[in-house]
Amino acid sequence: MTPTALKSTAPEHRSSCAVELADLQPGSPISRDLALHLIRCDDDDLPALLAAARAAKENFKPGVITYSRKVFLPLTNLCRDYCGYCTFRRDPQEAAAHTMTPEEVLTVARAGEKLGCTEALFSLGDKPEMLFPEMRGTLRQLGYKSTLHYLEAMCELVLRETSLLPHPNPGLLSAEWIARLAVVSPSMGLMLETTSHALLAPGAAHDNASDKVPAKRLRTIEDAGKQQVPFTTGLLIGIGETLEDRVDTLLAIRDLHDRYGHIQEVIVQNFRAKPTIPMAQVPEPSRGEMLRAVAVARLLLPNVNIQAPPNLNAPYYEELLDAGINDWGGISPLTPDYINPEKPWPHLEQLRLRTESRGFQLRQRLPVYPEFSPVVISRPGVLSEKLQAARDDEGLARRKRAA
Ligand code: SF4
Repeated sequence: MTPTALKSTAPEHRSSCAVELADLQPGSPISRDLALHLIRCDDDDLPALLAAARAAKENFKPGVITYSRKVFLPLTNLCRDYCGYCTFRRDPQEAAAHTMTPEEVLTVARAGEKLGCTEALFSLGDKPEMLFPEMRGTLRQLGYKSTLHYLEAMCELVLRETSLLPHPNPGLLSAEWIARLAVVSPSMGLMLETTSHALLAPGAAHDNASDKVPAKRLRTIEDAGKQQVPFTTGLLIGIGETLEDRVDTLLAIRDLHDRYGHIQEVIVQNFRAKPTIPMAQVPEPSRGEMLRAVAVARLLLPNVNIQAPPNLNAPYYEELLDAGINDWGGISPLTPDYINPEKPWPHLEQLRLRTESRGFQLRQRLPVYPEFSPVVISRPGVLSEKLQAARDDEGLARRKRAA
């Protein structure tokens, strides 16, 4: 779906959406009312919405789309929560339950380094030792008090032994743990997912997931802001929330960013149904819904990096460029997407060709975005040195030939 110009230049022939879009000032965020209007726009108005979103993206970061070349390190797939859409988590007795050893972590990180990766994405379940004695035993054997102590040590190991920069995604964090992890990782992440409390109700997506209470997640994101930690967050669409919830989730992120200026990236992720999950029968959001959510995210947050995962939107993922994203997120040439293993990442050459087909240059970034790296570099230590070695003059990944 290619964005087109407004159908008519005569105001009397334009829909109310088109008239409001025509009045937008580049770089100025739209209001809640307009966002609610636009996220419900009909198909006739969609091209104008996409054109406005793409123009906002070009005002923010012209001509370039970024991605992060990464290895995916599923440090443990045990988790104390049971989200209705999750295929990643396991209970200890399940055959595929696994906690990576330090040797496994280093082997994957070194293999990724040889392939030109610059990010070590640590994704893991939320505090599994609180629920499972088996995890407490595993941690004891490894020599750590908690999953977060182990994560901290593995980030430090990767930072010390390789050129990769860790980006941990471990679930809820206290202010103290944000400070500790910020010593060994330039950025970190927690998906807000939604601000809807309705999803905590019996039978809903977060019915059995105490870590998904919106206020707790907002507090972690706020604590990161108070410490000026570059932070990735986002929303998950299609898990039972309303269109209004999507707008309000974006507004909650915007509010935190307005106060602390630390939101380096907002991910707009679409729910995908899988046969093994409790939500297997829930319909997936349509392509039109996804494009509207991305475009509204861009217009609400015109000066924030907006990302959508290409593998969850294949085969039409380049349409996301029309809706105003400026980043494809983490793409691995080595490891699968353990969260969505049935949806492989596109080959990097394919990604480049399809990005260029929409008129953009594809550039490799680091886990921390260029505009956020100065705050990390200003803190003396190994992390600062490693980041300076990894970045080029523009703050993107220094170009080097993959071995
Ligand atoms: S989505 Fe995250 S918190 Fe929820 S069950 Fe899966 S791993 Fe746990």
